[in-house]
Amino acid sequence: MSLLLDEAKRFAPTTRPGPQDAWEGTVAESYACGVCGKRYQHKRSLWRHSKFECRKIPHFQCPFCPRRTTQNNSLKKHIMLCHQVL
Ligand SMILES: [Zn+2]
Ligand SMILES: [Zn+2]
Repeated sequence: MSLLLDEAKRFAPTTRPGPQDAWEGTVAESYACGVCGKRYQHKRSLWRHSKFECRKIPHFQCPFCPRRTTQNNSLKKHIMLCHQVL
């Protein structure tokens, strides 16, 4: 009676993953980078971005020359030193 066995298998409860991703928190893209505005679904993704990624991208363009800096503070310093603008 292989047919009955197949039926039993089909209706057997499948092992489904539980709500293990509940710790992920809110799924909405609610975490925005304060520097470049990039949005992330998870806080740790934003943390990783701001810790390792964002600082390496030169977001800050000097309005007086083609120089770009990775941090707002260093751009301000550059403007003060090179262009004497406060
Ligand atoms: Zn960023
Ligand atoms: Zn400049």
